[in-house]
Amino acid sequence: MDKIFAILRTAPAVCWSCGCETTVLSSITLGEGCLSIDCSAADFTDWPDLIDKLAASLPLSHGVGAIKPRRSATAGRTYMSNGCRHCDAIFGHRFEIHTRYDEKVAGEIEFTASERWRAFLAAQSE
Ligand SMILES: [Zn+2]
Repeated sequence: MDKIFAILRTAPAVCWSCGCETTVLSSITLGEGCLSIDCSAADFTDWPDLIDKLAASLPLSHGVGAIKPRRSATAGRTYMSNGCRHCDAIFGHRFEIHTRYDEKVAGEIEFTASERWRAFLAAQSE
């Protein structure tokens, strides 16, 4: 197998900070062949180039805020996170999990596997 597939799911959210409606990347399924894993933005904290590639595949119309490292006061650390597309406030990992009740598939992509992606998959499978 030399292809990796990704299923991106998004969910609507109301920003806790500014009150505006926005969209979060709620979950990602990644796989190769018959193997697949479920992950989320925070899993890409050490893999920013990979989440950038996935986020770039989302149509702009989905209105997902920037996926980038943000400092979480609750967690006491900085990690890859969703944010409000209006004010950039962080949406914490626990909040993302909560939004999965309303999520829907926003994109399915397939791309050539690289050592970097395989390393990520192996790290998540541990
Ligand atoms: Zn906001």
